Amino acid sequence: MNQMTKISGLGDAASKFVSKKQKLLIDGQWVDAASGETFDAIDPASEQVICQLASGGKADVDKAVTAARRAFENEWAQVRPVQRERLLLKLADLIEQNAEEFAQLESLDNGKLVFFARVVDVAGTVDFLRYMAGWATKISGHTLDVSCGMPGEEYQAFTLRQPVGVVGQIIPWNFPLVMAAWKLGPALATGCTVVLKPAEQTSLTAIRLGELIMEAGYPAGVVNIITGFGKTAGAAIVEHPDIDKIAFTGSTATGKWIGRTAIDTMKRVSLELGGKSPVIIAGDVAIDEAVAGAAGAIFFNSGQVCTAGSRLYVQKNIYDKVVEGLAAAASSIQLGAGLDPASQLGPLVSQAQLERVLGFIEKGKAEGGKVAAGGVRMGNQGYFVQPTVFTDCDANNTVVKEEIFGPVVVATPFDELDDILKVANDTTYGLAASIWSRDVSVAHKLARRLRAGTVWVNTHNIVDPNLPFGGFKQSGIGRENGAAAIDLYTESKTVLMKL
Ligand code: NAP
Ligand code: MG
Repeated sequence: MNQMTKISGLGDAASKFVSKKQKLLIDGQWVDAASGETFDAIDPASEQVICQLASGGKADVDKAVTAARRAFENEWAQVRPVQRERLLLKLADLIEQNAEEFAQLESLDNGKLVFFARVVDVAGTVDFLRYMAGWATKISGHTLDVSCGMPGEEYQAFTLRQPVGVVGQIIPWNFPLVMAAWKLGPALATGCTVVLKPAEQTSLTAIRLGELIMEAGYPAGVVNIITGFGKTAGAAIVEHPDIDKIAFTGSTATGKWIGRTAIDTMKRVSLELGGKSPVIIAGDVAIDEAVAGAAGAIFFNSGQVCTAGSRLYVQKNIYDKVVEGLAAAASSIQLGAGLDPASQLGPLVSQAQLERVLGFIEKGKAEGGKVAAGGVRMGNQGYFVQPTVFTDCDANNTVVKEEIFGPVVVATPFDELDDILKVANDTTYGLAASIWSRDVSVAHKLARRLRAGTVWVNTHNIVDPNLPFGGFKQSGIGRENGAAAIDLYTESKTVLMKL
């Protein structure tokens, strides 16, 4: 791999950003890792090195936590809610002013289409931070009537909601900037301080965000950003005794380890993990709507979406036509670099993810699944996988059971809507599901009975800052976004006064 000279589609601001060696943000300063170690940021479309990143380790995490603790107890504790609101609004404004640079960096680093980076990732981040800014001034406890004490005694009771403290935040590579915002937004609204670790595959927008956090005027130590690997920097955050809470998004396997480890120091934990979300299409849906819905549910972001609609169930009367249309749509998708305006789908994020997804595809074939479209890598440079449609899979096949996190869907027909509920719920996951039907009763009945944190009707993969987001079963613990996020980042304190 060679250092890139000129990156096609990258504007001046983003080019300037990637031309420098990146650092860690600790206590308001940009510093090298204590070990001096670095690693490469890779462009998944070309497999070339974009720039060098600092490989943070335990010593860096220790310094970041010390700074975060000091800021939490001192400088940040002095900042009034209305100032926290203003800072988040300022940060959102700064991101908006640099929106195109963020979109290009995200596209380059992750592989996603720059169009989606603009309208989903960057615009969504700005909206989300503005929404969370509003919460800073609206956090409240309750006054409560009590019956305690001896006859004749009088009491006054109330609760306070207070920031949970120093929060370790570990995020994945599929929506790097959005995930950073979903974590930082409620933490900064509530008055917490943060040590954030982006995914090793996609650190660029988190670093640029760190620059704007300092430009917005946040006190040193409120937000610390440690780039590096999960096994070193990530584990040091999870194991650190002076961190009060861990917020994690990523794989269920890593989430389970984090949950178990965090309990040793009784950290609060919120986990947003994997999924194997069903898309249920009733026979009353128009074929073109069904095809477009199913394709969008799985192929958006190359299927690297925790809520990806990877299990497609279509009622028998329209099944053949929907699968035919979906296979045709999959085969016609133009793969290419995210920064190339001609591309309709980008590469997967990394060599490891490419191998993982191709491994699942081979397993699907070996277990008897039929390939209606795709099923192979595209070319031999860049981590491109052809959008893939499997049919004729048994309910116990690996591709039906396990999260693939790539552009791979398994289509299965069903007879009666009553039967599909059991099949759709037959998964260890419970993040999301979608129902497609013109019949309101069918939609309501299924929405009530599906065991998933989000149920969409006639749409899929839509999120909103005001809507709680998270999983049933092994898809996680806790709900992010909305008022639920404020609960995640605050402790309830009961105050009882004898009058
Ligand atoms: P992962 O291991 O869960 O990575 C997510 C984050 O956790 C990254 O920042 C990672 O750091 C960090 N991490 C890894 N091991 C850690 C540890 N022991 N302690 C603390 N932090 C740790 O996921 P992955 O390996 O990148 O992807 C594997 C699979 O996870 C995917 O195929 C997909 O199925 C699933 N996934 C789900 C989501 C989601 O949104 N639910 C997102 C991404 C991946 P490094 O990346 O720096 O190692
Ligand atoms: Mg990258």
